[in-house]
Amino acid sequence: MRRGGKSVSKENLPQKICLKCERPFSWRKKWERDWVEVKYCSDACRRNVISKKPGPVREG
Ligand SMILES: [Zn+2]
Repeated sequence: MRRGGKSVSKENLPQKICLKCERPFSWRKKWERDWVEVKYCSDACRRNVISKKPGPVREG
């Protein structure tokens, strides 16, 4: 019989939704320190996010 089961397996990594592409991504080793602050699945997504700047923006 088994009792208690709170061990975390490697396949049970935490996940987040990328704020840019809105796709789920899993915890990665490189984020182990920054996981709380990770918001994007990749650097590409992070770069593509247009930071809010004052002034008018004409694009497109
Ligand atoms: Zn993304």
